[in-house]
Amino acid sequence: MSSDPNCVFCRIAIAFLDINPVAPGHVLLVPKAHSANISQSTADSIARAAAELPRLVSAIMHATGASGLNIIQNNGRDAGQLIDHVHFHLIPRHTGDAFDIPWPKSRYEGDALGEMRTRLERAFQAASGSVPANSI
Ligand code: 5GP
Ligand code: ZN
Repeated sequence: MSSDPNCVFCRIAIAFLDINPVAPGHVLLVPKAHSANISQSTADSIARAAAELPRLVSAIMHATGASGLNIIQNNGRDAGQLIDHVHFHLIPRHTGDAFDIPWPKSRYEGDALGEMRTRLERAFQAASGSVPANSI
């Protein structure tokens, strides 16, 4: 399994409390194998981490009394990623809490939706041939 001696997340367990939480109980779920982001990860590594989600989310909600929970995963500086070891934020939510995702909505004009779908389908086919072999 790949590991980076300079990476703080390589040295910690698979799930731990974020040191600067959005809310108490904010957990980071971290695949064991070091990769900077989702697209550089293997499907196996992500699947193994994701398999922990049902139990982990239930435990966080139970322990914090949360009535909701967001799973957020940042890739790249423009997406807010600061630590270059892929990770999922599990953020417990409560009625009326301060956390807000300012999520602007736009719309597709003309055939832009169909064109985007075609581009994505082609890129997905191309990516299917270049996904790294599953190894952990
Ligand atoms: P990102 O912005 O990369 O999606 O999220 C990185 C998160 O890691 C931040 O929320 C930050 O508070 C947390 N973090 C950074 N360094 C450490 C650390 O050494 N220990 C823990 N527990 N959390 C960390
Ligand atoms: Zn790492």
